[in-house]
Amino acid sequence: MEGFGRLMKVTEHIKNANGNTQFSFEILPPLKGQHIQSIFDNIDTLMEFKPPFIDVTYHREEYVFKEQENGLLKKQVVKKRPGTVGICAAIQNKYKVDAIPHILCGGFTIEDTENFLIDLDFLDIDNVMALRGDAVKSEAYFKPEKEGHVFASDLVSQIEDLNTGIYLDEDLQNTSSTNFCIGVAAYPEKHMEAPSLDSDIHFLKKKIKKGATYIVTQMFFDNQKYFDFVDKCRKGGITVPIIPGLKPIATKKQLNLIPHRFHVDLPEELIIAVVKCKDNKAVREVGIEWCVQQSKELQKAEIPVLHYYSMGKSDNIKAIASQIF
Ligand code: FAD
Repeated sequence: MEGFGRLMKVTEHIKNANGNTQFSFEILPPLKGQHIQSIFDNIDTLMEFKPPFIDVTYHREEYVFKEQENGLLKKQVVKKRPGTVGICAAIQNKYKVDAIPHILCGGFTIEDTENFLIDLDFLDIDNVMALRGDAVKSEAYFKPEKEGHVFASDLVSQIEDLNTGIYLDEDLQNTSSTNFCIGVAAYPEKHMEAPSLDSDIHFLKKKIKKGATYIVTQMFFDNQKYFDFVDKCRKGGITVPIIPGLKPIATKKQLNLIPHRFHVDLPEELIIAVVKCKDNKAVREVGIEWCVQQSKELQKAEIPVLHYYSMGKSDNIKAIASQIF
């Protein structure tokens, strides 16, 4: 398989595209017990659209309560989707395309973070997406580890420190610097905990000031929300690329699930079209068509990269990409 520009920063990929809109996507590690082949099968389907980079999400542990013989419940930690770093290394090795691991504040001490980053550096993975993570299911609010970061901006600072050769152990001598390109998340419809969009943008700016060099947005279904958000960011002094995140609706259930889980609105026209569908096969077609129209408009606006949330399913992303790229 020919490479499409391996070992470059996302910002360099954008610069080298000379104004052309590029295709990228995000995958989830498979559930524990499943083989990496499922990932490769999804990627194989999408390689013809020449993604300059592929994101791999990170999933922190969850708690489950298991009933014991004596009838009492035992709290047990489970990690359902391990393997982000391994998958990224496998992708870079197999496809010669930059893989971007997501890294979280949640569940990581600062030591864990440093070790994670050192592994990435050893593996020639030079891009990283820095996120806070959500609250675990059993808690109402996000709680950092005792020695962990509270906000993504703190995580960005630690990565930037490594980029300048500053490790946690101050006694280390002649350390080598890492070379991470840092992406961060943003929310055109506001992060659910932010009191206002202005406040959210204020803290987004902080992530950029600390060293992040590009932004990927939460999914949205109305492009105007993205355009307005970009306008507000530019007026607020944010100049880095803002990559839109897109997801095609695929099931009726998602009409309730997406607003609940991701705190985004669905346009009335889309809701009506989905409600009218006989089955999920028809919903899938509506979702593809809606996403194609969104993608065409964004491409026309010369957005550098369109980033698709594949959620482990590539067939509808392929159907969209084949009409755009
Ligand atoms: P932050 O930037 O830390 O912001 C969190 C909240 O705190 C916001 O409301 C912000 O306005 C506020 N805030 C920030 N700084 C301060 C401050 N100094 N003082 C007061 N308030 C502040 N989750 C995963 O678990 N795994 C993934 O792989 C993953 N990938 C994602 C990819 C993208 C593109 C996006 C958009 C989200 C992703 N998420 C992922 C979800 C993300 O972890 C959650 O949305 C999380 O709730 C917020 O993360 P953040 O990095 O935006 O947090």
